[in-house]
Amino acid sequence: MTEHTLTVAGVAVDTRHWIGGRRVASTETFTDVSPIDGGTIGEISRGTAPEAAAAVAAAKAAFPAWAATSRAERARILHAIADGVEKRIEELSIVETTDNGALLRSHRRGVMPRVAHNFRFFADWLLQLEHEDFETRGHTNHVSWDPAGPSVLITPWNAPLMLATWKVAPALAAGNTVVLKPAEWSPLTASLLADIAAEAGLPAGVLNVVQGYGSEIGDALTSHPDVRRISFTGSVPTARRIAESAAANLTPLSLELGGKSPLLVFADADLDLAVDLAVEQYDNAGQVCLAATRFLVEESVAEEFTRRFVEKASTLTQGDPRHETTDIGPNIHPRQLEKIDAFVQRALAAGARAVIGGHRKDTQYYAPTLLTDVAQDSEIVQEEVFGPVLTLQTFSTEDEAVRLANDTRFGLAATLATGDPERAERVTAQLVAGTVWVNCFFVRDLQAPFGGSRHSGVGREGGTWSFDFYCDVKNTVTAPNGWKNHG
Ligand code: NAD
Repeated sequence: MTEHTLTVAGVAVDTRHWIGGRRVASTETFTDVSPIDGGTIGEISRGTAPEAAAAVAAAKAAFPAWAATSRAERARILHAIADGVEKRIEELSIVETTDNGALLRSHRRGVMPRVAHNFRFFADWLLQLEHEDFETRGHTNHVSWDPAGPSVLITPWNAPLMLATWKVAPALAAGNTVVLKPAEWSPLTASLLADIAAEAGLPAGVLNVVQGYGSEIGDALTSHPDVRRISFTGSVPTARRIAESAAANLTPLSLELGGKSPLLVFADADLDLAVDLAVEQYDNAGQVCLAATRFLVEESVAEEFTRRFVEKASTLTQGDPRHETTDIGPNIHPRQLEKIDAFVQRALAAGARAVIGGHRKDTQYYAPTLLTDVAQDSEIVQEEVFGPVLTLQTFSTEDEAVRLANDTRFGLAATLATGDPERAERVTAQLVAGTVWVNCFFVRDLQAPFGGSRHSGVGREGGTWSFDFYCDVKNTVTAPNGWKNHG
């Protein structure tokens, strides 16, 4: 324990950066606040350009040895990190809940086990990663995945460790070294990950963690000439800024951005299932990029769907995310709450009707909201709110449903509820979305491609797609009698 250690719900968290296998403090700090009650958690080292440069230098220095480490050894260390995560699920869960306000029970049972799985999955995928050799006029083509170099990974606050490790694990597996920059509203579990990785034997400099405001440290990371990959999850405006900054060095980018995804409910659907899927959209207080926030419901069942939705939504408990019975926790920050409420008040002023909610509960919690009487071209239908705010529109034909579903600038996901497999196939083929769920929601396999179309993102990660991104993929062509003149 040092003066830089915070005790968060009984767990010791170092508030300094982790650079080159050492804790490094900045002279400046920023205040980390808990969304549960708005109380101060503590002061966190606030990095700027010098810390960014030091972290990239550490990642660069560690790269040759880590890239040359055998696949088997890299996989062994990744499994050791997963073991460390599993041992600390309780601690990681309570720290994450204190820091970002998402449900403790989800962290314990779903999110943190998944964090461990991120490491195990990419370790195992690495060991079987190969492309069958093929021939061209007798020449052999051999495909290999070469480590690309230091990688900057920038993550948001809505699922901090989950989204960070979804990038860290494949980047490390690929043989890259990493500089991770967690969001300033939820920096704590990244610091615990640094401890876990060091205990698991990850060599110094292979994983570095720097904290700070994106506006102060971001450019120094993303414009650095020694950085060979940038993977970013966050908002569209920040993505634009990062793309501009990365352009100087043509650094390859993976961008996972926002969404305004539809839930299409056809009259032939199992309505109870459709309502279950609909109510799930309040998970994490609506702060889920993949959330199906636009309900598009066939006219003939809209009234009944709405009645059942309101009935079911009224059973949800909102409150302290540490309690086992809570369904909806707080929103991340009073500033986010203001943003959410401003969206809703503008929508109401423009003629929308609140079927439920439509107001804040206090400074931390927003009432689960469903708005109807909304126009397709209105802000509330077109823009991501990132809070527990859903809209409902109706359609009368399948063509109209598809048209409405596709009519935003996003294309992250789409969910449909229908009892007709042929309709599912027809509609799915026309939807612009990186992921489509049919009669289900949020089923995610790490080997599946993940990403968005249009303004929801650039590129895909997951399984081999992650290795394609984090590696320099090489094709080696060898002549049939390539050796005959070379003794
Ligand atoms: P944000 O863009 O404000 O911040 C994300 C991260 O970028 C933070 O770490 C922030 O510090 C950093 N950042 C800010 N300015 C930067 C700059 N100039 N250079 C480099 N980094 C900078 O996003 P947010 O509000 O934290 O997250 C919410 C957004 O993330 C929503 O739009 C949501 O849909 C999206 N999201 C997408 C996915 C996905 O997989 N597609 C998943 C989760 C969240």
